[in-house]
Amino acid sequence: MYFHLILTDNCNLCCSYCRARAFQSSEEKGEEVIIEIDSALPVELSVELPVLYKFLKRDPAPTLTFYGGEPLLRADLITTMVSDAPVSRFMIQTNGLLLDRLPPEIVNRFSTILVSLDGPEGLTDGNRGPGVYRKVMDNVRLIRSNGFTGELIARMTVTEKADIVAAVRWLSQNPDNSFTSIHWQLDADFAGDFSGRRFEKWAETEYNPGIQTLVRDWVDHMEGERKVLRWYPFLDPMEDLLNGRASRLRCGSGYANYSIMTNGHIAPCPVMIGMSDYYVGHISDADPLHLKTVPIGGDCLDCTILGFCGGRCLYSNITHPWEDRERKIVCITVKNLNDALTGALPRVRELIAKKRISLEDFSHEKFNGCEIIP
Ligand code: SF4
Ligand code: SF4
Repeated sequence: MYFHLILTDNCNLCCSYCRARAFQSSEEKGEEVIIEIDSALPVELSVELPVLYKFLKRDPAPTLTFYGGEPLLRADLITTMVSDAPVSRFMIQTNGLLLDRLPPEIVNRFSTILVSLDGPEGLTDGNRGPGVYRKVMDNVRLIRSNGFTGELIARMTVTEKADIVAAVRWLSQNPDNSFTSIHWQLDADFAGDFSGRRFEKWAETEYNPGIQTLVRDWVDHMEGERKVLRWYPFLDPMEDLLNGRASRLRCGSGYANYSIMTNGHIAPCPVMIGMSDYYVGHISDADPLHLKTVPIGGDCLDCTILGFCGGRCLYSNITHPWEDRERKIVCITVKNLNDALTGALPRVRELIAKKRISLEDFSHEKFNGCEIIP
């Protein structure tokens, strides 16, 4: 089983699409569901580690992903847990600024590190703050030179400021030859500011055509370089298309991937912080192998591409953060991705038949913090 562990709600950044947005005013949302939030949730992890370890021990092969806020603000706890916890694999999702706080022998135990970067320096710093890109890249170089050989994923948040083609190409050209993989996620949390954004136009005229271009780039690279680039929004769905498989929710939330809150309650997803109505248990007495599942529902169940999309996001499926029109725009981006990948499928099959690449080149760790469907 996969578990995210929320170490702290604090963060050392105030990114424009995340905490900074909390200070902006918002519009009324007609359809939004009122969700009970546990306001007493501690900011810092407050569970006894032996209780957590006892819970994890009941799973023969747990994977633990450190998450926040910014988890490296608790580098002390991470160092302790990586040394002691009964866990098969460790991962972390970090903004990368404090990676130099961990000793190399701890960093080198991670199988996967997801580092938030939005693309080139100007774009990243515009969203995340001046000097962030360079400091993060310094740390990325540092951990590589200290022997980290695991998967290093550049995780982008994509807003209307992004030229998606240029940003993915930039990270893929691998500044300093460091990243093995790329994932991106749309900033579709309109948080009541849809009318103040140009998301609709941008999605139609820039993002969706950009995805078509990137899929072509991706398959051209397979043909020319005999290599399947690890671009997660393409990699995971294409593997399923090649195998003729439908997918459940691709991030695994609510059935394979759960999140441990700072007070030990277990939520279906790391974003459902404090959503106590959806907790599936507590680490003090839950069986990690038999947690309640929380399924996708609503309109997704009638969607013709549910098997491709998986429902995109359990959190938004439950909270209904969008007006109808807004939801349709997001779903059109999924349909566009589906069209681009299914359109490329015959060419990919041919490259496999000609042995330029193999089906195994698409294999990857599932539920590694990449949501897959942007
Ligand atoms: S495309 Fe939209 S409606 Fe269809 S499964 Fe995905 S999220 Fe649900
Ligand atoms: S895609 Fe949605 S359900 Fe999945 S981890 Fe992200 S917020 Fe949670």
